[in-house]
Amino acid sequence: MKKSAKRRKKTSQKLGKGLSVSDRELIAAATAAIRQRYRDEWQEVGAALRTRAGKIFTGVNLDAYLGRMAVCAEAVALGRAVVDIGDAGIETIVAVRHPPPEDKDQTIAVVSPCGACRELIFDYDPKARVIVPNGKSPTVVQIGELLPNKYSRGAEG
Ligand SMILES: [Zn+2]
Repeated sequence: MKKSAKRRKKTSQKLGKGLSVSDRELIAAATAAIRQRYRDEWQEVGAALRTRAGKIFTGVNLDAYLGRMAVCAEAVALGRAVVDIGDAGIETIVAVRHPPPEDKDQTIAVVSPCGACRELIFDYDPKARVIVPNGKSPTVVQIGELLPNKYSRGAEG
């Protein structure tokens, strides 16, 4: 084993699991969704999720003139899944952000889910895997790792 490969392996072990082929497929699906529907200041984020049965659903964010009406891409992808096949869990989910047109040197890249989406993902699958940024190469974490002390109404949790 070359020294550089050894170092890489050690780093990936430290930071979490590397991406599988199906993880890369999911990133590609989210990327294709936002590449197709990108509109500056309206649709900038794409998401893709794989249900527990292996079906992929994509979404893009819905930005809004009235800011609080905006909906995240992850929620749109989940909504499409629930309408189509019902609540089928989330095996893995990822979001990617399209850079604004003036940012010529940036590319579409994996972004972390916002706090509200972390709650939503956990509600629909507490064991969901989430692909998150990690320097040059994204990594995978469980939704629970992104959401310590999840919101709960009173003593129920
Ligand atoms: Zn969100």
